[in-house]
Amino acid sequence: MSIQIADLAKEFGLRPGHVATVLDDLGIAHDHASFEADDDALELIREALAEVSPDSPITAKGAVTPREAAALLGVGAADVQRTLVQKLKTMATLTTQLKPEVAQKLFEQFGAKLQFADAAAAKPVAPKPKPAPKQPAARKRPPVVTIMGHVDHGKTSLLDKIRKSNVVDTEHGGITQHIGAYQVELPEGVITFLDTPGHEAFTAMRARGAMVTDIAVLVVAADDGVMPQTIEAINHAKSAKVPIIVAVNKIDVPGANPDRVMSELTQHGLVPEAFGGDTIVCKVSALTGEGIPNLLEMILLQAEMLQLTADPKGPVEAYVVEARLDKGRGPVATILVKNGTLKKGQSLLIDTAYGRIRSMLDYRGKQIDEAGPSVPAEVTGLNQVPEAGQKVEVFEKEAEARTEAERRIESRKSPTHQGRGLTLKGLREKLSQGEIKELNLVVRADVQGSVEAVCGVLQKIKNEEAQVRIIHRGVGNVTRSDVDLAYTADAICLGFNVGVESGARSQAKQRGVEIRTYKIIYELAEDIEKAIKGMLEPKFEEQHLGTVEIRMVFDLSRYGKVAGCYVTEGKVVRGCQVRVRRNKEVVYEGKIASLKHLKDDVREMAAGFECGIQFEGWTGFEVGDVIEAFEMVQV
Ligand code: GDP
Repeated sequence: MSIQIADLAKEFGLRPGHVATVLDDLGIAHDHASFEADDDALELIREALAEVSPDSPITAKGAVTPREAAALLGVGAADVQRTLVQKLKTMATLTTQLKPEVAQKLFEQFGAKLQFADAAAAKPVAPKPKPAPKQPAARKRPPVVTIMGHVDHGKTSLLDKIRKSNVVDTEHGGITQHIGAYQVELPEGVITFLDTPGHEAFTAMRARGAMVTDIAVLVVAADDGVMPQTIEAINHAKSAKVPIIVAVNKIDVPGANPDRVMSELTQHGLVPEAFGGDTIVCKVSALTGEGIPNLLEMILLQAEMLQLTADPKGPVEAYVVEARLDKGRGPVATILVKNGTLKKGQSLLIDTAYGRIRSMLDYRGKQIDEAGPSVPAEVTGLNQVPEAGQKVEVFEKEAEARTEAERRIESRKSPTHQGRGLTLKGLREKLSQGEIKELNLVVRADVQGSVEAVCGVLQKIKNEEAQVRIIHRGVGNVTRSDVDLAYTADAICLGFNVGVESGARSQAKQRGVEIRTYKIIYELAEDIEKAIKGMLEPKFEEQHLGTVEIRMVFDLSRYGKVAGCYVTEGKVVRGCQVRVRRNKEVVYEGKIASLKHLKDDVREMAAGFECGIQFEGWTGFEVGDVIEAFEMVQV
């Protein structure tokens, strides 16, 4: 039978590590959580355990990681890490092998003793020497946090509560400005919160190139549990590879069930530490404030592990987090600096907006002259309102910024300016060039059952070069946020029996993201399969443009033979495809090589006008021939 080490430890008033030590002594295999034993063996183990004092040392066979230490001590991995960082000033991930003396001190912090079976094996395997940091001037910077979660689970309340209880400002009457971000200063460190909660804003910013969030706090109401937008938030954060800390909110509500939330989370790949995983879960109430100090501490702990650094003297890397038009002050933008320092008087270019920083305010509404890494600042002086998520560039002179802005505006007028999105047709090329190995998909369907069915079918599709990865699935129409996510993850949006939300279609067009909708699951699967195998043939359809009659034939010495034509219906376009009929019989199929009106080259001619036409490689036309103009459009 299988026996839990933790249960046995509890029974004897010992730590799991003591049980593991006895098992090791007796030569019984275990995985630090459970072991297999029959009644006789268990009897033997119990006898041995009865002899063990809670003060006796725990024996480790080799070097210990924080995760193993937590298992041996019977405490949470977050507790272990917090102790390492705060008490022992040691940075370690859950799987870092600790030095023997550090491991022993760690055990002492928890009132336990650690000894090593083999002193030589206890030495951590020397890690590969790290390359020297590129920027020696890099300094620790505060983490930037976004709060996400389902509607009404308390995102706004949590942000407000944190702001009210932690942002001290006597000078300005305690009223902080809503500038899109604020900072909380704690004895252990500073945290920057983005004030626009939700994964939509997060991914919209990413789609514009800004990756400002370091940590996502996922708010889940304890009286409601994991909901569709909770799952969306998880998928969006995961796609951005941003670590998630869970805040189980509303624990003050009678009947709230945080444990249920935790087990629901495991189904979505977030395994709480209490269940042996490494997701930090904090129980909080945005109403009473309970648990919020612990949440803030956990954010700082996570930040320590991420080793966030920036060089305040380095080149400026900054992004807009919010912008608006203020009646009195003109365009104002809140900028968050990732690297370098933003200074009053600098000239900025943000996409096509430019200007000199006239004034800078912090989130308390206080005038500041500069803003370093992770410090949000509201600036004025731009000529227009930029978009959230856009990159901020610093220029020596305002004139240079303006010239570049004008150049950008001009270049966007050209039709070649397009999104960079992935299309099923383009997939093959990227696969063969080794650019991508997975086809990322965002899947939407009408009901949960069809979401499961579609995903089930899709997940079976793969070949040697690529496989399908579903980065997000959900019930309902394709949304703008889906398009943003698809854009950032180089994915395609698939809809099954659903429509496309208004705005999402134009967003997709602008970003070059492909949305494909289907009514038959088999066709959907077939297209994806063909795309992966590079067999997806684009379907074209003939679209009629217009009808033209040849009324005269000229033979011009300079140009050669030209058909003098009259457009009877629709239009004719230079370069378009044509079919020429003589008494119903087709005498030519090809393209228009030149289209002139009087002496000028024209792009197209409408009904009721005369024009001169030459065909590609054909001069056999006669008066009375009828030209059908058409183009092939992809369906
Ligand atoms: P959001 O949509 O996620 O931003 O949620 P809100 O912050 O607007 O909160 C939704 C509702 O839940 C509001 O009526 C809040 O007062 C309430 N609420 C938020 N947090 C708590 C909490 O911790 N306890 C209780 N009892 N109510 C809360």
